[in-house]
Amino acid sequence: MSDYYAVLGVSRDASTEEIKRAYRKLARQHHPDVAGADSAEKFKDIAAANDVLSNPEKRRAYDMGGMPGMAGGGAGAGFGFSDIFESFFAAAAGGGGQRGPVSRARRGQDALLRIDLELSDAAFGVAKDIEVDTAVMCTTCQGSCCQPGTSPTTCDVCGGRGSVQRMARSFLGQVMTTTACAACSGFGTVITSPCHECNGEGRVRTRRSVRVNVPAGVDDGTRIKLTGQGEVGPAGGPPGDLYVEVRERRHPVFARRGDDLHCTAEVPMTAAALGTVLDLETLDGEQEVDIRPGTQPEEVVTLRGLGVGHLNGNGRGDLHVHVNVAVPTKLDEEQERLLRELATLRSEERPEARLAPAHPGMFSRLREKLQGK
Ligand SMILES: [Zn+2]
Ligand SMILES: [Zn+2]
Repeated sequence: MSDYYAVLGVSRDASTEEIKRAYRKLARQHHPDVAGADSAEKFKDIAAANDVLSNPEKRRAYDMGGMPGMAGGGAGAGFGFSDIFESFFAAAAGGGGQRGPVSRARRGQDALLRIDLELSDAAFGVAKDIEVDTAVMCTTCQGSCCQPGTSPTTCDVCGGRGSVQRMARSFLGQVMTTTACAACSGFGTVITSPCHECNGEGRVRTRRSVRVNVPAGVDDGTRIKLTGQGEVGPAGGPPGDLYVEVRERRHPVFARRGDDLHCTAEVPMTAAALGTVLDLETLDGEQEVDIRPGTQPEEVVTLRGLGVGHLNGNGRGDLHVHVNVAVPTKLDEEQERLLRELATLRSEERPEARLAPAHPGMFSRLREKLQGK
């Protein structure tokens, strides 16, 4: 992938305003309508760089390591610039001016697929084979659209130019207008015997298997770009790109927040008071969780590095175990006697209400509860 900052010729700390200015200047210089069809790739690079750097969210993701094709979250991310590019091309094909015939070959469409991942796949990364319904080059005609042994013939209406000139009357007087030749759709040639296999499309629909390497750290909505794995274009045109959007299945135990995981572990009152070791089945297999003596309700024990892998770097998030102290609701006679004995020993038969000062967080939590969040 190109360095977008270099493409636009701006420094890495350039303001959005500077980026927009650089983009407008370059886009004017390299627009295919101005600089010719050879500049199409360059123009596309410029548009792609602007698409990412002028959007603060995308720019941040790019700055964090610039994973190729990672457009995190957000509906529609990653598609904008190619649509714009396509529309420029369409304008170039049909627009005025003196141009030669248009090529039948056009770039294929981008495709979007969704895959469901387990939390552990997102945490560690995974290679997945997915089935894609797509268009591939027709092997019978090799994308030429012609029945083997035949070739396109020059259009006799426009003589192969792809366009016809006409004198037209307008409020400016007599003007010469150039329009695409209707007989050959501007191609300059006519296919008289289209390939039977693909009906002269140069491509056929098929189902094929594509391997997606999902990096660790992807999240719900992350799009992975597979360059050139989209549909092959008509008449042997270059393929579009395939975007794979990740959906993460909800895990029965672990909730994900960023790259950290959270779970709740219930600890009996006695174990919380005396301390214990819990065996917890984590994404990395069974781990011991140290519950120190005197652990309070809602205390959090953090297991470092047992969360989800960071997308654009090394290391992983943490696993936070929220302790829920379980108070017994049913006591048999013996247990009740022992607990009463303990209460007596601690002079807690009728404890005084020890009031803690209210803290601001209490109210927002209460409000969330009332609103059912
Ligand atoms: Zn064919
Ligand atoms: Zn023609």
